[in-house]
Amino acid sequence: KPILMWHRRDLRLSDNPALHWAAEQGRPVIPVFLLDEVVESWGAAPRWRLGEGLRVFGEALQDAGSRLILRRGEALEELRALIEETGADTVVWNRLYTADERERDEGVKSNLKEQGITAESFHGHVLFEPWTVETGSGSYYKVYTPFWKAVRDRDVPDTLAMPDLTAPSDWPASDKLEDWALAADMRRGAEIVARHASVGEAAARGRLGAFVGSKIADYNDARDMLAEDGTSKLSQNLTLGEISARTCWHAAQRAKEDGKPGAETFLQELVWRDFAHHLAFHTPRLTHANWREEWDSFPWRNDNDDAETWRRARTGVEVVDAAMREIYVTGTMHNRARMLVASYLTKHLMTHWRGGCDWFADVLIDWDPASNAMGWQWAAGSGPDASPFFRVFNPATQAEKFDPKGQYRRRWVAELGGKGDDAMAWFDAIPESWEQSPDQEYPKEPIVGLKEGRERALEAYKGRDAAE
Ligand code: FAD
Repeated sequence: KPILMWHRRDLRLSDNPALHWAAEQGRPVIPVFLLDEVVESWGAAPRWRLGEGLRVFGEALQDAGSRLILRRGEALEELRALIEETGADTVVWNRLYTADERERDEGVKSNLKEQGITAESFHGHVLFEPWTVETGSGSYYKVYTPFWKAVRDRDVPDTLAMPDLTAPSDWPASDKLEDWALAADMRRGAEIVARHASVGEAAARGRLGAFVGSKIADYNDARDMLAEDGTSKLSQNLTLGEISARTCWHAAQRAKEDGKPGAETFLQELVWRDFAHHLAFHTPRLTHANWREEWDSFPWRNDNDDAETWRRARTGVEVVDAAMREIYVTGTMHNRARMLVASYLTKHLMTHWRGGCDWFADVLIDWDPASNAMGWQWAAGSGPDASPFFRVFNPATQAEKFDPKGQYRRRWVAELGGKGDDAMAWFDAIPESWEQSPDQEYPKEPIVGLKEGRERALEAYKGRDAAE
């Protein structure tokens, strides 16, 4: 009897524990992806990027003599229909950790088991599963550094090779990927974002190789510089599982053994990703509500005109606007810039982090529900291990330090008249849907001044303390 391999955030053939196990049984394997209730809730750019990932993964499966079967509908119903159609008696997948994913998976597992179907899940999305890292008192970690210390010397199992897949004698019907229209909600042209995407397992491995080969040694210094291409850019691949975190971990460990200085920092960043999933598992509210409940009384503004100006990258704070254009046009943003724009929105503009978190969820091609929410709550001050609220990022000094020659700002803020290879052409930097023209002036003053915004936020913070 065939085995159904339910792919979710694991669009890869190598180092895929559930797929590996299925192949080892020596029975036909039917790879399946479901556009189910969880995936339907994803934002525009993550859906578009998923579509690209599914196309490339489908081709990789074809090359391996297999196929990717696509179905749209509620997960349990679709799996039951496939079981009925194919005679499969086993369903396998790799585990995920945010609240909606777990709720879906637990429901599917218990229901299939009641029907006498074998339903098995595997450890494949993170380095260390959330319940395997415990504090001395048996609790979970709320602070990153002790979490890192608890895992850094652990043995991480070797990666698994690509398995041989046995095809079933008959394939069930599959939806056509085009019919899912996963690019439909992209307000900016998908073709622009596509230039910045690096899709699929082979591309991810190539990128990891290039990073470890030539960039990891300088990672400590280069990773913070806004105009430099100093990081791995693997987040879009990691979030869809086009490469496993374990593959990246072992590559970095080898670089560390070779004495490459940035390797340890890169390992730490991979562990930040695990930490986000650790927090999302142990405190499911991380993705949608203040992790520190005392922040519920803070006078954050809901969506407002200033927030819209922030989204449209016309705040008049050049480094903030540069970053907000980078995210819209490329679907990604430099990590330091993410911290800066999040601080500006939540502190200078006093707007609730959820609005920014939702915008990122709509426009990022590397959107990860746990890392995004953790990043926003960190910047806002409402998360565990967050930057204290009184530490308000000053965009001007940050720009001086991390974009000293102004290259990043000139690259993205076309109105500044950037010239040379580095500057983006007007319409590459400014989406047409924003209806701006090349002679529209860039704002002369920030919508909220840096000093004034900082003082207003700190006043509100003091008021919150007094109210407690
Ligand atoms: P590298 O520097 O090469 O790091 C390697 C990998 O480590 C990354 O690919 C990523 O998987 C992981 N990583 C690095 N930094 C972090 C971090 N701070 N938190 C969690 N994982 C990390 N990352 C996402 O993958 N998806 C998101 O939706 C996301 N939203 C964010 C929102 C905010 C407000 C902030 C402050 C950070 C967010 N991050 C998010 C984390 C980080 O900015 C990106 O992972 C990083 O910029 C990706 O670039 P890279 O792949 O070149 O990273």
